[in-house]
Amino acid sequence: MKRRRLGSVLAFFFAATAAAVAATVSLLVGEIASQDSRRRIGEELEELASQLRDRLDAGMGERLHDLQLIAAMQQADEPSPRRGAEQQVLEKLKASFAQYSWIGFADVQGRVLYSTGHLLEGVDVAERPWFRNGLLGPFAGDVHEAKLLARLLPRPDNGEPLRFVDVATPVLGADGAIQGVLGAHLSWEWARRVVDRTFHVTGTVREIEVFILSRDGKVLLAPPGKEKHNLPEVPRGAVSEILSWSDGQPYLTAISHSAGFGSDYHGLGWQVAVRQPIEVAYQPIRQLQWAILLCGVIAALGFALLGTRLARSLSQPLLELAQAADRLRLGEPDVCIPETDQYREAARLSASLRHLVEGLTSESAKLATLNASLEEQVRDRTEMLDRANQHLLGTLQERDELVNRLKQLANTDSLTGLLNRRAFFERADQERRRAERHGTSLAAVALDIDHFKRVNDQHGHTAGDEVLKALARTCHVTLRDVDLIARFGGEEFMLLLPDASLADAIRVAERLRQTVAALQVPLPAGGTLAITISLGAAVHRHGLPLGELLDQADHALYAAKRAGRNRVEYLPDDTVELPAD
Ligand code: GH3
Ligand code: MG
Ligand code: MG
Repeated sequence: MKRRRLGSVLAFFFAATAAAVAATVSLLVGEIASQDSRRRIGEELEELASQLRDRLDAGMGERLHDLQLIAAMQQADEPSPRRGAEQQVLEKLKASFAQYSWIGFADVQGRVLYSTGHLLEGVDVAERPWFRNGLLGPFAGDVHEAKLLARLLPRPDNGEPLRFVDVATPVLGADGAIQGVLGAHLSWEWARRVVDRTFHVTGTVREIEVFILSRDGKVLLAPPGKEKHNLPEVPRGAVSEILSWSDGQPYLTAISHSAGFGSDYHGLGWQVAVRQPIEVAYQPIRQLQWAILLCGVIAALGFALLGTRLARSLSQPLLELAQAADRLRLGEPDVCIPETDQYREAARLSASLRHLVEGLTSESAKLATLNASLEEQVRDRTEMLDRANQHLLGTLQERDELVNRLKQLANTDSLTGLLNRRAFFERADQERRRAERHGTSLAAVALDIDHFKRVNDQHGHTAGDEVLKALARTCHVTLRDVDLIARFGGEEFMLLLPDASLADAIRVAERLRQTVAALQVPLPAGGTLAITISLGAAVHRHGLPLGELLDQADHALYAAKRAGRNRVEYLPDDTVELPAD
């Protein structure tokens, strides 16, 4: 298993912890901050909507108030208002407020008597809502497109159709009877200016858009090109909400309802909706969250670095101890376990290792001494044993040599070196048993020097010994290695020939006789001597004891002596075909 490094583990642990904390804090702070920000942004929008509503209401209320003031002045001029003077008053009033498009007075029949710019004078407006409502009391009329004046007044700059809101009030005579209706058309462009001015004052733009809607939800004022955007269903009592508008986008939306102005203007039920795209509204919140997350990432990196440093300072003493231990294991001399004091556990480990090494070193020194003395003892003992062994080997060798010499002495004739009678019998009997076992033939030849006594008598006993040795050598050279040659006593010899038939034995005996006869034995006193021998051959038959075989050979030898010596005789003589020589 691949083991992780302490540094990696700690770095990962610290980084993961820091990242988790940063993520949690980012989420938590983001959530808290975003709640707060949402509330604050919502309040801003609500404030904006309220301001707009108030300005619109105030505008309408003040205009109605203007007309009421003029009406009151006309009542004071009763019984015959001077048309020229009234006309001038209306012109001044129109000049006082730029958005007045038209102000005029119609009598109770609905005929316009005088008006600003003399427009529509003499025209019947009896069916116009402002007139009909104006007869009943102070009246404010909702936005509508210009009808009679559409041809007489220029269109607004943006090319939209000319639209008005109306204010009207009855004009009473001194007797309290209605004289007519004073009415004014206000260009609806006024509302757009109010909106623009409000934004100018608050300085808040950030894609904030304003919609003014009628009581029944019809769009009265909208940013250019967005007149078709319908206000979504608004939960009752809600002020600022995230609403999905008809373009499918979510907007933070604040709505304010018109409440009127003063005692006579009760409002037209307008709804002022201020909206801001949600991603724009909440951009500061996201920026905050990103900032916190970034701080978290930086903190995580910092903590990872810290973890690596910490791990290094933790593992350094351990690595040093491990290196020292490795060098000790490899048998490096003069290695000491470093003393570490970076922290308590490492110091403890270092001390324990040092004690262990000291203990082991002293034990190993003792063992080395013990070992050396043991080796010396073993060497001494080995040397001693080697010496004893050598001595023993020498002794055994000597003994073996002695035994061999004794055996040889016991088995051989000292003068000729041939087998003596006892050794001959031993080996000859083994040969006899072997021949019996394998069914092979076995022959014996008895040999005696002719008139040997004379040799002794004439040349001395030493010369006789030389003759005996010469005869032994001749036998040795003439016969096979497997043949047994023994000196039976005096100048009598016995030969045993394994795997030899009687004919073979006779042939060998004859060859030996001839060789000896041709021999010139050198004498100690000078000169040479010729001798002859007589031989008797016999062959073994199954079940015949060895002694009897040898006796038969002896008998044959006597027969040879009797027949004149220097010849070969054999037994039994009826079974053999003699070689033709
Ligand atoms: P024959 O042809 O009948 O065998 O006559 P011969 O003289 O050989 O027979 P005989 O058995 O009478 O003589 C044997 C002699 O061999 C007697 C003895 O002095 C001699 N002799 C026996 N042993 C030794 C020996 O070890 N050394 C010597 N020099 N002579 C020996
Ligand atoms: Mg003899
Ligand atoms: Mg003899």
